[in-house]
Amino acid sequence: MELQVRKDVCIGCGLCAESCPQHAISVQWGQAQIDQRKCDHCGLCLDVCPQGAIVELVPISKEELAATLTGLKDKADNLIARIEKLTKQCITDNVQRGKTA
Ligand code: SF4
Ligand code: SF4
Repeated sequence: MELQVRKDVCIGCGLCAESCPQHAISVQWGQAQIDQRKCDHCGLCLDVCPQGAIVELVPISKEELAATLTGLKDKADNLIARIEKLTKQCITDNVQRGKTA
């Protein structure tokens, strides 16, 4: 497990650095930095961060990634097909209304 600081949400408050028993975190230029070599993955910094800026990077195999992408593509294809069907239905309904008006 590797931890990463989300730079878009870290506010540089330093609470994580204060809580880290391994002194693995420093705040530079208003952003927390984690020294992965010192980190023992105790998780304290995850709990204290008020921004939820520290996240775990979960290793994933190529096969898992491919399966996830395939699942997402299937969902997207399904969604597109439903939108196309609804669009056609709307056009048909509008044409019908136009004929009866
Ligand atoms: S506690 Fe969170 S917001 Fe504060 S410096 Fe650490 S990562 Fe950034
Ligand atoms: S997980 Fe523990 S050791 Fe690692 S950076 Fe956070 S507080 Fe420090």
